[in-house]
Amino acid sequence: MSIKRIVVLTSGGDAPGMNAALRATVRTALYHGLEVFGAENGYSGLLHNKIKPITANTVANVIQRGGTILKTGRCHAFHDPEQRQQAISTLQGHGIDALVVLGGDGSFRGASLLSDEGGFAVVGIPCTIDNDIAGTEYTIGFDTACNTALDSIDKIRDTALSLDRNFIVEVMGRSSGFIAVAVGIAGGAEIILTPEFPLSMEALVEKLQAHERRKLTSIIVAAEADTPGRSFAIAREIARLSGIDYKVCNLGHTQRGGTPSAYDRKTASVMGFQAIKALLSGHNKTMVAVQKSQITLVPFSAVGEMTRYFSDQELLEMNEVICG
Ligand code: ADP
Repeated sequence: MSIKRIVVLTSGGDAPGMNAALRATVRTALYHGLEVFGAENGYSGLLHNKIKPITANTVANVIQRGGTILKTGRCHAFHDPEQRQQAISTLQGHGIDALVVLGGDGSFRGASLLSDEGGFAVVGIPCTIDNDIAGTEYTIGFDTACNTALDSIDKIRDTALSLDRNFIVEVMGRSSGFIAVAVGIAGGAEIILTPEFPLSMEALVEKLQAHERRKLTSIIVAAEADTPGRSFAIAREIARLSGIDYKVCNLGHTQRGGTPSAYDRKTASVMGFQAIKALLSGHNKTMVAVQKSQITLVPFSAVGEMTRYFSDQELLEMNEVICG
């Protein structure tokens, strides 16, 4: 199929670097003579015909901006085949041949259905601060989110040292501990709590009591896991079992926003460029990915419903040696 008109959309959670990926996708597509349209608010833009032409100027001056100029969102109606048929008719009405979807594995499942049911070619660019999409070692936004969290940890350390206080810093990561591990190591946290390697409260308190004899202050970095705000309960339990006082700082959505890092801008640019190359060379239902530190293409079927989990236990052991 020869591709002439494409739609680009951002879907699911936002991640810093989405704009840089959008810019590279649009500019590369225009370079190859394609007509480019943008849909607003993820799949909801397809359902409500919020589809507008995008020019090179639309994406001028956005490489440094966090969030997404197309807006993003979750669209539950897109799970309904009848609603998707409506979106397919709208896309056909615009003469669209292909879509580039910036989002996570859920967004790629939606894209896959558009391909199966409407015959469009679809390529995905992985964007989430959690870095937890199966099939790729990197997702756009992770580096920026880590740097944002690290900046906060450095600030918290100043106040912790001045007042001899202990802190639990809670970072994002619903089912994966990639952010917690990266910023825990880089921020000098004594303990890193991940969903993948849970610690019993007794084991945690034992470690803290061993540290307490040697350290002025202690910082624990905890992934939010499936209970954002869980650090308050952890702090209460530590106090109950040991009498040691921990303050809690939940970084929350600050990690989602902000100026994308150099690494995220560069990776997003390369991925946007490669997404269009993939479409033009006939790929479909494919994600642009990083494997063994190289940009590559991975079929959506290899992404599936799978989340990528943190598995490198040696890194946690290393951190205990360094920070113990
Ligand atoms: P992410 O893309 O970050 O994983 P979600 O899982 O929330 O985020 O998916 C984003 C959107 O993709 C959903 O709101 C929905 O519009 C669409 N989507 C996800 N899964 C499916 C599915 N199985 N069928 C159709 N659309 C889906």
